[in-house]
Amino acid sequence: MAATKRVINFSPGPAKLPEDVLHKAQAEMIDYGGTGVSVMELSHRSSHFVKIIGSAEKNFRDLLHIPDNYRVIFTQGGGTGQFAAAPLNLMKLKEGATADYIITGSWSMKAAKEAEKYGTVNKVLPKLDKYTVIPDQAEWNLNPDASYVFYCANETIHGVEFHHVPDTHGVPIVCDMSSNILTRPIDISKFGVIFAGAQKNIGCAGTTVVIIRDDLIGHAIPECPSIFDYKTMVGNNSIYNTPPTYSIYIMGLVFEWVLHHGGVEIMEQRSHDKAKSLYNIINLSNGFYSCPIDPDCRSRMNVPFRVGSPDGDEALETKFIDEAASKGLMSLKGHRSVGGIRVSLYNAISVSDVHILTEFMRNFYLEQKGVILAQG
Ligand SMILES: *Cc1c(COP(=O)(O)O)cnc(C)c1O
Repeated sequence: MAATKRVINFSPGPAKLPEDVLHKAQAEMIDYGGTGVSVMELSHRSSHFVKIIGSAEKNFRDLLHIPDNYRVIFTQGGGTGQFAAAPLNLMKLKEGATADYIITGSWSMKAAKEAEKYGTVNKVLPKLDKYTVIPDQAEWNLNPDASYVFYCANETIHGVEFHHVPDTHGVPIVCDMSSNILTRPIDISKFGVIFAGAQKNIGCAGTTVVIIRDDLIGHAIPECPSIFDYKTMVGNNSIYNTPPTYSIYIMGLVFEWVLHHGGVEIMEQRSHDKAKSLYNIINLSNGFYSCPIDPDCRSRMNVPFRVGSPDGDEALETKFIDEAASKGLMSLKGHRSVGGIRVSLYNAISVSDVHILTEFMRNFYLEQKGVILAQG
């Protein structure tokens, strides 16, 4: 067999998984726990799979200290499916069928567009021409009669992250945590619904985890597809139809890995250290690297920046991406709507992975400065 090649994968998602998880899955691939079949070939109603999903849920609840009055489900349809599920289940909580959307980037904007199919969407923030800030709550236009308030905890494309939970004066919060779940402790009791697609921080593509407060179950509109109805999914312990069994299994392995590595408290520490060393090198580069995001809401997970000038020197950025790739530093190209570079720092990225990247960035900067000096 050829030697195994591994690179440092800074992809925004599907993203790097802990190598321990891949090795465990590899070891169990052909014969899962003495069953003689792989997890992919197990019946979703078999005792083995029921144990896999049960222990995934238990570990997830332990990691986030999820209170007893919240249910956890594993669904399909991704974060995008949940953009529809939220209004389908919650828009009619109140007569007016209106919902507040705090739009801080492309993902919350997409969520708002989906919700407009099912009710009236109130855009809470003053109009932003760029997604680089979260305006102070004093400037928000929250509607006290909204059925719920939606926000995205971390805008994966724009690199804007909430470092606090908004105060909605008792209106239930629906939060998209697709790209920062399990990276810090959270007070679940402040939320109505939290959802996250697995493929960024907690597993591979295919499943989406949803945390729902009991009193928000059972309010879906009659047209709501059964697979998106919280009540149906909760009532059947996520096995109403065939769930994405292998994706749930991988997610369970990631939960074990996070527990084994000290839980979300340690993930928070690591996230802080990784982001700090990257933002430091950007800040110390005299504008060679520039990140447009307000320092108060810079993401610890996705760090967008430009190279050469604040608007980006595209030729230099291509050179940066190519040279990085030649050193095994992969998937650094920014989203096409933003341009430049984006570094994603999910839980599976280690502190030393980030040090290798910052060393590269330092050398690239010095090399270019040398070129500029020589040309000058
Ligand atoms: C990736 C992402 C989504 C979309 O997830 P899909 O699983 O592709 O539907 C939604 N929200 C955020 C914050 C994301 O990062």
